[in-house]
Amino acid sequence: MTAPAVRVDTTSASIVYIAIGSNLERPVQQVLQARDALAGLPETRLLGFSPLYRNPAVGPGQQPEYVNAVAAVRTRLAPHDLLDALQAIEANQGRVRGPVRGLPRTLDLDLLLYGDREINDQRLTVPHPRMQQRAFVLKPLLDIAPDLDVPGLGSVTTLLCAVSEASLERIDESEAVTASREHAR
Ligand code: AMP
Repeated sequence: MTAPAVRVDTTSASIVYIAIGSNLERPVQQVLQARDALAGLPETRLLGFSPLYRNPAVGPGQQPEYVNAVAAVRTRLAPHDLLDALQAIEANQGRVRGPVRGLPRTLDLDLLLYGDREINDQRLTVPHPRMQQRAFVLKPLLDIAPDLDVPGLGSVTTLLCAVSEASLERIDESEAVTASREHAR
């Protein structure tokens, strides 16, 4: 079987930031598995991965808390092909998409920034339209990219100052290492 054609941006690679979240079925392992999957994407190299944070769910009803992180990659995949790849990783990790948004999920991958591109079409909005409201995105993003500016919005530092990060709890490295070992088994 031939692999589906992937549009590759042959002119240059772009630095891309991706938010990762999980609140079902061993969230720490889900996030670490997603990190490995991102590292394995074609035409893509993992540049950095933030610490993991726990954060209460903001979705409807009572939900388990989330584990969140942010990855930085360098990729030649074009934006919509990258979105396809992110959705394939979500599906591979058991993400079920339904009509109601905000329900608990094994994995959510959001394309935060694609270089300094601004994209706005039916499938994709970049910068991610809600990233500036979310401490659970801005804090890990700042951890790995302290000097980053969000096109049209300003520095990540300034954006983080405007939201409360009080509910974020950084996950102890030893817990992440233990989960990582279990994930490797
Ligand atoms: P969600 O329920 O948060 O996983 O939303 C996924 C939907 O948002 C998909 O249908 C995507 O096409 C759309 N979408 C628009 N912009 C983005 C983005 N920057 N990152 C991820 N999904 C996006």
